[in-house]
Amino acid sequence: MSYQVTVIGGGPSGLMAAIAAAENGAKTLLIDKGNKLGKKLAISGGGRCNVTNRLPQDEVIKHLPGNGRFLYSAFSVFNNYDIIDFFEGLGVGLKEEDHGRMFPVSNSAKSVVNALLNRLEELNVTIRTNSPVEAVHFGNEEHTVIMANKEKINTNALIIAVGGKAVPYTGSTGDGYAWAKKAGHTITQIYPTEVPLLSKEPFIKEKKLQGLSLRDVSLSVLNNKQKAIITHRMDMLFTHFGVSGPAVLRCSQFVVKELLKGAKKVTMEVDALPDISEEDLYNDYLTNIKENPKKTVKNVFKGVVPERYLDFLLEKNDIQSDDRSANISREKLANVIKDLKHFQFEVTGSQPIEKAFVTGGGVSTKEIVPNTMRSKLMEGLFFCGEILDIHGYTGGYNITAAMVTGRVAGMNAAWESLAT
Ligand SMILES: Cc1cc2nc3c(=O)[nH]c(=O)nc-3n(C[C@H](O)[C@H](O)[C@H](O)COP(=O)(O)OP(=O)(O)OC[C@H]3O[C@@H](n4cnc5c(N)ncnc54)[C@H](O)[C@@H]3O)c2cc1C
Repeated sequence: MSYQVTVIGGGPSGLMAAIAAAENGAKTLLIDKGNKLGKKLAISGGGRCNVTNRLPQDEVIKHLPGNGRFLYSAFSVFNNYDIIDFFEGLGVGLKEEDHGRMFPVSNSAKSVVNALLNRLEELNVTIRTNSPVEAVHFGNEEHTVIMANKEKINTNALIIAVGGKAVPYTGSTGDGYAWAKKAGHTITQIYPTEVPLLSKEPFIKEKKLQGLSLRDVSLSVLNNKQKAIITHRMDMLFTHFGVSGPAVLRCSQFVVKELLKGAKKVTMEVDALPDISEEDLYNDYLTNIKENPKKTVKNVFKGVVPERYLDFLLEKNDIQSDDRSANISREKLANVIKDLKHFQFEVTGSQPIEKAFVTGGGVSTKEIVPNTMRSKLMEGLFFCGEILDIHGYTGGYNITAAMVTGRVAGMNAAWESLAT
């Protein structure tokens, strides 16, 4: 059997690539080892399918801290707004939620995946599910895909869209890295991103804050000079193993990178009250205490942060919560205010890549033509999606990168294969 374009991997990048290849006239085959296509896409955005993000293009790129700038050329061909138009053209109405996240109006991932499958069918793309690819042989005129059952498929252009290594039960088990290496590509260090972090702090081990969620805090990752490498203002969660929640996931790649550089532990800092300065906070409380000397300490601070967090910080600073506020020394007041603004704790690792939302690292973007996704090292070879060394925050950014690179790879693979 031979095809003009063969796409390995039916995630968002491969589905988009196969559609684009077929729309551009290529006889196209899409292969996936799973029993269903788009498994990871379907569980994104809490199972409602976070198709893309509506923020301006520059913002989308900023939210892809792992080589997002590489995508400028591809975005000039097909960008996040084109993804929205594409789905609306397929009859999938989209709606915007917080932070520009776009979801199907139906709130059902099925509607997105089915629309892609219907489009593939309309375009006569041959689909093979339950079909693991075992190896790839690169030839001069065409390439050969070798299936696990030893069947061989020839193709003029090959698109590798098998994803990274995160959440392998969805099918992404890192199979494509060996094929890319065989073609001469560099695979940059693979690491987990968008991943919960581990901490050995006594308060974590003793589960003092387990299950506590802090809303709208500023969470920073500090370097060894105590300077913030990155700060994210979102919610965070204390768990039995460490920390998680949106702010932690966003900070996680910066922690993991420090650990990869050899740090044994990384300091994180929580500002629970980012809208007020430490000085103003101190003066406000001082006035409050002067005006209400008989109030208990707890009552003076009540409502400013969740009660459990306040109790924890008061205990940490050796302050009796039921003591009269007038009895609290200036020094202790300053210390508790400092903790409200700069509570520091150490993290020592992350959960494994299997539990990460996204893979960091992958096929080096330096070896990929940015406006076509073609390999600079092997003719007729294209890459798209998470297998590339591109990663972003959750919120539709990775899916956008996958669909944009998929679209561009599919179009160009079709043109190249039709020209041969
Ligand atoms: C729980 C969860 C939630 C997420 N939420 C978000 C979110 O809200 N926003 C966001 O931007 N990103 C999110 N992501 C990340 C996003 O889903 C991925 O970045 C995206 O799916 C990557 O697309 P892809 O096409 O590159 O790879 P994948 O979606 O991983 O697809 C790869 C496909 O290749 C197939 N394959 C692999 N090896 C072989 C082989 N040897 N032979 C044949 N087929 C093979 C697999 O079966 C799979 O179908 C989330 C991820 C997870 C796990």
